[in-house]
Amino acid sequence: MFLSPRRSSRFAPLLWVAGALGAVGSSLPAAEPAAAPADGPRDSPAAWADERLPALLDLYRHLHSRPELSNQETATAAKLAEEWRAAGYDVTTGVGGTGVVALLKNGAGPTVMFRCDLDALPVTEATGLPFASQVKTERPGGGETGVMHACGHDVHMTSVTGAGRYFAEHRDDWSGTVMLIAQPAEEIGAGAKAMLEDGLFERFPKPDYAVALHVTPNAAAGTVETLAGYSLANVDSVDVTFHGRGGHGAQPHTTQDPIVMAAEFVLSAQAIVAREVKPTDPAVVTVGSIHAGSKHNIIPDEATLQLTVRSYSDAVRKQLIAAIERRANAAAAAAGAEPPTVNASEGTPSLYNDPALTARLTAVFQNELGADAVGTGEPSMGGEDFSRYGKAGVPNPTTLPGPSRLRA
Ligand code: ZN
Repeated sequence: MFLSPRRSSRFAPLLWVAGALGAVGSSLPAAEPAAAPADGPRDSPAAWADERLPALLDLYRHLHSRPELSNQETATAAKLAEEWRAAGYDVTTGVGGTGVVALLKNGAGPTVMFRCDLDALPVTEATGLPFASQVKTERPGGGETGVMHACGHDVHMTSVTGAGRYFAEHRDDWSGTVMLIAQPAEEIGAGAKAMLEDGLFERFPKPDYAVALHVTPNAAAGTVETLAGYSLANVDSVDVTFHGRGGHGAQPHTTQDPIVMAAEFVLSAQAIVAREVKPTDPAVVTVGSIHAGSKHNIIPDEATLQLTVRSYSDAVRKQLIAAIERRANAAAAAAGAEPPTVNASEGTPSLYNDPALTARLTAVFQNELGADAVGTGEPSMGGEDFSRYGKAGVPNPTTLPGPSRLRA
């Protein structure tokens, strides 16, 4: 699941905590109905969240002011491990790098995984907030950069911690296993893979369902969006290098100019989406970087290009990469040059939200927050490695509620 709580202020994400609690609380089958405590009715998730908001805000500010870059999230992971242990969870650290897994077993029933992400971005914070990040770090290529939770993963960690506390304090209301995970390196699309390769679904129970959220500035505070089916794209990076024969700019007839090959390729590649892919299949081919040469009058030996390539289905993903390779080869062949080098990285797979589970959770949100506060999200060509848990077999088709159209 990929849910987008809307937000237009920094407080909105915390309203999402209440929404998430409602959703997760009802997505597990309840145990035998518990008798109301003698001192009155059980508190609703929303009332509980209102009461716990100050403590959750403290955690949020703590995390926000101490951001860490991908795969360096040691202090953030330690903080969450401490919080989750204190809430009564059985916590394992160091899963897939800095990842954290927390289990709360509460009798028979499904295992539901709630995932948050640990990492921040190399962005200098300029909000002026009293809890703004002052963190600076070295850039990989040299120079210094600020670090900020500019993508909102601090909100996700706070939300999952709030949900985890709610479950721990309301064990009479549900049965099954709650599995909280804090995943490293979402920003570089590496953390989910690393946790899975470190035995996430072998060393710990393989969840029947998995839920995650992402904040968005594109919608109103206090509202939540869900979206069934394809929601985020396959994200592939492709490197193309044209190998020409350099020489003097005044004697082009003695060269094979890789800049001209690259220029022809860039225009040719625009026809892939426009003329090769079925118009109703979303696809993107963007050349984001092109580098060649060092001086006005020297034709270089090589030109290198970096592309981002996006799609939803596996078939379109393969079609795009094959077309890029074919058109790059054609541009080189037209110049009489040797074939270019084309390397496609293994990217992040597209995110497909299970329709049955999405419908079930959407109804819970509507019930808890009111129908006006729940909308339908827009599909995006962005990426999110939460998709890897789906690719690894979650939700479990044998335990899904009702008919479910699983990803092809
Ligand atoms: Zn993010």
